[in-house]
Parts: sequence; C-alpha cells; structure tokens
Amino acid sequence: MLFAHDTEVALAAAAALVNTSPADEGSDEGLPDPAALDAFVRTWGWTGERHRGDAELRAVRALRPRLRRLWEVDEDEAVAIVNALLREAKALPQLVKHDEWSYHLHATPAAAPLATRMAVEAAMAVVDVIRGDQLSRLRICEYPTCDDVVVDLSKNRSKRFCDAGCGNRAAVAAYRARKSLAVQPDR
Ligand SMILES: [Zn+2]
Ligand SMILES: [Zn+2]
Repeated sequence: MLFAHDTEVALAAAAALVNTSPADEGSDEGLPDPAALDAFVRTWGWTGERHRGDAELRAVRALRPRLRRLWEVDEDEAVAIVNALLREAKALPQLVKHDEWSYHLHATPAAAPLATRMAVEAAMAVVDVIRGDQLSRLRICEYPTCDDVVVDLSKNRSKRFCDAGCGNRAAVAAYRARKSLAVQPDR
C-alpha cells in the first residue's frame, strides 16, 4: 500500500467529489439535488452530522473547484491550498475509531458542516501525498474529451485514465488507429 488506508479512501472520495462537477455548461451536474448528495455520502461512507438542505448542497458544490486545483497545480500552490483549508476549518487532528473502521484521523468534530469535513479530510490526505513527494500521482485523465481527476495509486505510476470508461475508450481508439494504419499501404 502506498499510503495509509484512510488516506487512499479519502483521495478516492475527493476525486469522486471533484468528478461530480459538470465538465462544461452542457454536461450533467453529478450532484443535482440533496438526494444525490445523500447517495454520494452513503456511497463514500461519510459519517457525522448532516443538515440535508440546499445550503449544505451549495457548500459541497462550492468545495469542488477548490479541491480540483489540487490536481492541477504545482507543489507549492497545493501546499498553500491545503494549509488554507486546514486553517479555515481550524483542523485539529485526532485518532478516532467508529463503525467498522480501525483507528484513523479525524481533524474536525463530527458536528462540523459536511463540506468542512470533506475539505479537511481531503486536505489531510493531500498532506500525506505531499509529505511523501507523490503529488504527481494526482493527475487529469488523459482521454482527449475528459477532464476528470485521477488518483494514480499504481506501483509503476501507469494509471492514465479515469475510471469512467476512458481506459476502454482509449484502447478502442488505439485499436482503430492501428487498423486504419495497417490498411493504408494497400490503397
Ligand atoms: Zn471516520
Ligand atoms: Zn476520463
């Protein structure tokens, strides 16, 4: 394992959150309403208090572009973002154990707003990434029409595409390109 388990889960959850953002004006909002946020929270095992209203949804949506920057910027800028997120939330790291989880870090009280807990969990995970000099593992999907964020936890840093099917699409495109090259000399 590259990072502690809770770090890897937090990175995956942060990436999934960022990837709920509509890619452009025309594409779908991944968190269109509070029910979609409920489903997201269940999927990623968030615990703690919820407010379940439009304000909570707005705050979570507003967090996404900030987190996305962590996938786009260089190390110094990522450090500035992480430190700002932790400072704003007055993060206080504590080891805790709950539900089926063994000891892991929480840096906000369970009663902190959901968006704050999401921000701090992501920031704490990126702390690990930066301390391990691994920020280059946070990348944008290489498929031409996709700008989803990718967390590359592979041994040989070989993950180039997001999990939304771009790997398959790229393989198909490469196959077609090879095929068309192969038939060209006959024309
Ligand atoms: Zn926890
Ligand atoms: Zn992709």
